[in-house]
Formats: sequence, C-alpha cells, structure tokens
Amino acid sequence: MTHTHTYDALVIGAGGAGLMAAIYLSRNPSMKTAVISKLYPTRSHTGAAQGGIGAALGNLEEDSPEWHAFDTVKGSDYLGDQDAIDVMCNEAVDVIIELEHMGLPFSRTPDGRIAQRPFGGHSHHFGQGPVRRSCYAADRTGHMILQTLYQNCIKNDVDFFNEFQVVDMLMEDRRCCGVVAYHVDSGDLHIFRSKAVLWATGGFGRVWSITSNAVAGTGDGAAITFRRGIPLEDMEFYQFHPTGIYKLGILITEGVRGEGGVLRNDNGERFMERYAPTMKDLASRDVVSRAIYQEMIEGRGIGGRRFVYLDATHLGAEVVEKKLPDITDFCRTYLGVDPVKQPIPIQPTAHYAMGGIPTDINGQVVLDENGTLLPGCYAAGEAACVSVHGANRLGTNSLLDLVVFGKRAGLAMAEYCATADIPELPSDPTGPIAAELERLLAQTTGEPAAKIREEMQNTMMDFVGVYREQAGIQKAVDKVRELQDRYRTLVIMDKGKRFNLDLLEAWELGNLLELAEVTAVSALARTESRGAHSREDFPDRDDANWLKHTFAYRREGGRIELRYKPVTITRFQPKERVY
Ligand SMILES: Cc1cc2nc3c(=O)[nH]c(=O)nc-3n(C[C@H](O)[C@H](O)[C@H](O)COP(=O)(O)OP(=O)(O)OC[C@H]3O[C@@H](n4cnc5c(N)ncnc54)[C@H](O)[C@@H]3O)c2cc1C
Repeated sequence: MTHTHTYDALVIGAGGAGLMAAIYLSRNPSMKTAVISKLYPTRSHTGAAQGGIGAALGNLEEDSPEWHAFDTVKGSDYLGDQDAIDVMCNEAVDVIIELEHMGLPFSRTPDGRIAQRPFGGHSHHFGQGPVRRSCYAADRTGHMILQTLYQNCIKNDVDFFNEFQVVDMLMEDRRCCGVVAYHVDSGDLHIFRSKAVLWATGGFGRVWSITSNAVAGTGDGAAITFRRGIPLEDMEFYQFHPTGIYKLGILITEGVRGEGGVLRNDNGERFMERYAPTMKDLASRDVVSRAIYQEMIEGRGIGGRRFVYLDATHLGAEVVEKKLPDITDFCRTYLGVDPVKQPIPIQPTAHYAMGGIPTDINGQVVLDENGTLLPGCYAAGEAACVSVHGANRLGTNSLLDLVVFGKRAGLAMAEYCATADIPELPSDPTGPIAAELERLLAQTTGEPAAKIREEMQNTMMDFVGVYREQAGIQKAVDKVRELQDRYRTLVIMDKGKRFNLDLLEAWELGNLLELAEVTAVSALARTESRGAHSREDFPDRDDANWLKHTFAYRREGGRIELRYKPVTITRFQPKERVY
C-alpha cells in the first residue's frame, strides 16, 4: 500500500543537524514541517558524541573566533573553504549561548560559566600552544545536545515519522519535490511531497571494518542523492580517529588527551613528543593516527602488536571518573580495563566523513563544480560538505557544524518555502524503488549481505585506510566493483513485510558499496598527501596541482567522473603544517 503526505518542509534525519533545522523551521507555526528518521530520534549517532563542541568563548583564558578559524583552516590542510569556516567560527559563540538557553546542561567552571577543555589542533595565537575551547557536558556532550534539541522540537509541535527509512528522492523539472520512505513497521511505501527537503542523514563509517560509527551509519542520504545525479565532494578525505578501542573501534574521546592523557608505545615512550613537539598528543587527528601507525610499523606497538596505549593513570580517579565517566564505563565493560589504574589499548578507527553532499553556506545543495544550486534541496551535518573541514576535521568542529549549518539551512528553507509552491510529483514516484526492493526480496539463491559487507569492510580497511598507495587503492576499486556485481544476486532470508531488517540492511549495503567506490576512485586520482588522505607513493602535499575540491559524478552506464573546484582562500595562505 502507498500513502501520500504533503508538507512545506521535510527534514530527513533526526541527529543534531536535522533537529536544529527543524527547530528553526517550526518557529513559524504556519510552516508544516516533518522530520523523517529511520531511528528513534534520540538514538541518532549525535548522541554518541563525547568530547565537546568548539567555540571561542574564552571562559578560562583568552580566545578568539579568528584563532579558531585559523586552527580550522590549518587542520583542514588548507582545503577548507575559508568563507564557510569564518561563518562557523564567528557564529559559534552565539549558538552555544543559544543551546544553553534551550536548556543544555553544560559542565561548569567553579564560578558557574560553561567549562572548556583543550582539544586536538585547537590553539591560541595562531598555533602557539593548546587553548581551552571545547565546551562539554562531561563526556556526554552529544547526548545532551540531542536530548535538548529533541525536547525543543516536541515543544514546537514538529511532526516526527520515526522508523521510516527514506529510500528514494523525487525530482521533477530539476527540482527536488519530496522523498519516498519505507515504513519499517508495516513494509508500506510512503510518498512525502514537499517544497523543500533537507538531507541530514549522517556519515558512513560502516564502509570500514574498524569504526566508531553506529550500525546505522550507512550514508543513505549521500548514496540516494548520488544516484539521482547530485555529485559527492571530497570523498577521499575520511578521518581515522587515533583512539578507538583495540579491535572494537569504539571511540575513546580526545577529551582523555584534553584532560592530560598521553599515548605510549611498547617502550613506554610518549612518542608524540617526537612527531609534534608543540602540540604533542593534541596535534590534529590525521597527524596522531599516522604517528600511531608509524610506531606499529616500526615494531613499537605493544608487544609488537597493532595497538598502542592511551595512558590516563597519572590523572587520578577524581578527574577520570568525574570528567570522563562514560569512557571509563566503556573500558571497564568492553575491555575489563580500569583506566584509573591501567592504560587503554587503542588503534585508529574510521570515524568521520569530511566529504559529502556539496552545499553553499546556507545549506543549499550545489549541483556542480560551478556552484549551480538545486532548488528545494538542502543538506547539513556529516552528510554534507560545506566545506569547513577540508582534508581533516578538528575535534569538536562537527557538533559545531551541525548546529551552525543546521540552523542556517532551517532559516534558508523557511525563506524558500514562504514563496515556493508545492511541486508536481513525477509520474510513478514509487516505481523505481519498489522494483529494487522487490528484486532484493525475489532472489532465492545467492550469498548473504553480511559476507559481501565483510569483504568490503576488510578491503577498505586494508587499502583505503590511514595510509594508501596506488596498487592498493586500485585493488580496492576492483574489489568493490566485483562486490557490486555480486550484490546483484545476494539473497535475503526474511521475506516478510514487518520489521524486515534483513531487507533494509541489504539495501544499506548497496549504499555502502556506492560510497566505498566513490571514496576509492577519488583517492586513486589524488596523487598527493593532504590531511587524512595520505599516499605513501606521493608523501607531499602538492598545492600547485591539488589545492582543489573533488566533485564525483555518477554518469550514464555507471561510470564515475571526477571534476574539480577551486578552494576559497581569503585570509590564510597555505603553509606547511607544523604542530
Ligand atoms: C562515537 C563518536 C563520538 C563523536 N564525538 C564528537 C565530539 O565530541 N565532538 C564533535 O564535534 N563531533 C563528534 N563526533 C562526530 C559527530 O558526532 C557526528 O559527525 C555528528 O553527530 C553527525 O550528526 P548528524 O546530525 O549529521 O547525523 P546523525 O546524528 O548521525 O543522525 C543521522 C540521522 O539520520 C537518520 N537517517 C539516516 N539514514 C536515514 C534514512 N535512510 N531515512 C531516514 N532517516 C535516516 C538517522 O535515523 C538519524 O536520525 C563523534 C562521532 C562519533 C561516532
């Protein structure tokens, strides 16, 4: 059965970016707004964010948005667009106060101000040393943000369609006119018709075998829009967070190092002093992840194995238990390690997509490298690429990106919806996706999705991970294409209509394969090392040829075409990065 709903504005995704946009849309009571989410809203990955949200409040020491912008540009390895970075860092202070006024329970200084702690890559006076810029609520910052935003949406009477999985985007006359969603409970398809759509569907860490991302991080929005002709920007830049729990990938926040924790190799040496003499353990994430790999490659992993220690034992029980309660609990539960007394075994873990659906600074989706805008279509949060993070994101800047650009997208959509009409729907809105889901269900023999997924994840981890080189990336491209062929004949055991997660996981695997291919193809072409994209065969940054954003397009016959767009540089000219 197919159902049809009509709204002014649709928000796809109930993480920080989607909810912030929904709050702004719903402030106008005549604006009919709905949020569609495959998860119950407070289960979105934003709720897992631990360490903090960056803003130059200067509550504990001198700070300025200009230093924040400089750090973000430098952290991005000069690939971030500086106009967008200025917007984010300048609006950060007000948006934090706004969150506080919405009721967010930040941790406090003794005199009652919002507490702040240091984080990787954040410095004072343009790189002179660490600064306390990360605002936090213990190590549950994302949880508090998500709960606060959700409660404000409820207050504003936003309509929620929970456990509705968006599976297609509707376009007519080169305008976005809604989406198709699969109702998880009934297996029915629902058409949502609207003037404007925001994609806030989060990241796709599930492309890799070791990841900090939740199971739902399958990049659905990025894959759907890509299939519908929208490009993906800078997909070769995928961040590996230095400190995931060994073998599990579960994140141990950078806040541990912010509070004074240090990394140690098999000799007990604090090795970051050699790689980053000024910032040490608080250098940017790409730098620290590579240093850990280097130590492991040179045989100084613990016991010669593929992990090093994150040591917080010298901080004392008071700091560890009060300021880092959740990660203390994770270590005790999942590892049987007590971080008060023992070092934590860690390895880099696939964490964050710098790339995504290209947008302008108001969240409107950009159709090509010339900046052509797509009417009625917006994106924000990890699914989008503004680009404020360039080749490498600084810790605390994603939560900030969500609220700043979620808000801007909400405002831009409200303005657009005030004058736009409700667009016509294409003739058979559910036809293509219904056929694809039926095809997946009809198959009676073949391999399970889990097998294909595991091969993809291991291949991407081995060849498109922290370090890359031509032959390896080529192997990954070939392997992913082989897996895409095998995907055509996979088999689903559950043939039912209600809560058919077997079907949805198979459909999500199709998205992951799509994004794995774009990531690998974009990485193969970029013959330099910049930020998180580290080529062993091209170890240097090459500004003469590569100071530009990648735009990947899916062309007729499935071919991927790469085109490029210049970086917006205003105040900070590219320099060598020294930490
Ligand atoms: C463990 C961890 C810790 C982190 N810590 C920090 C930190 O301390 N500071 C920081 O700045 N950043 C941190 N990050 C990064 C940051 O949390 C994420 O980048 C950010 O929360 C993503 O938010 P989002 O709103 O874009 O999407 P998400 O919060 O991931 O939400 C995605 C939403 O989209 C919905 N959705 C997805 N697909 C569909 C579909 N097909 N149909 C319908 N709905 C769909 C989901 O239901 C969900 O509601 C952390 C990330 C992780 C994984």
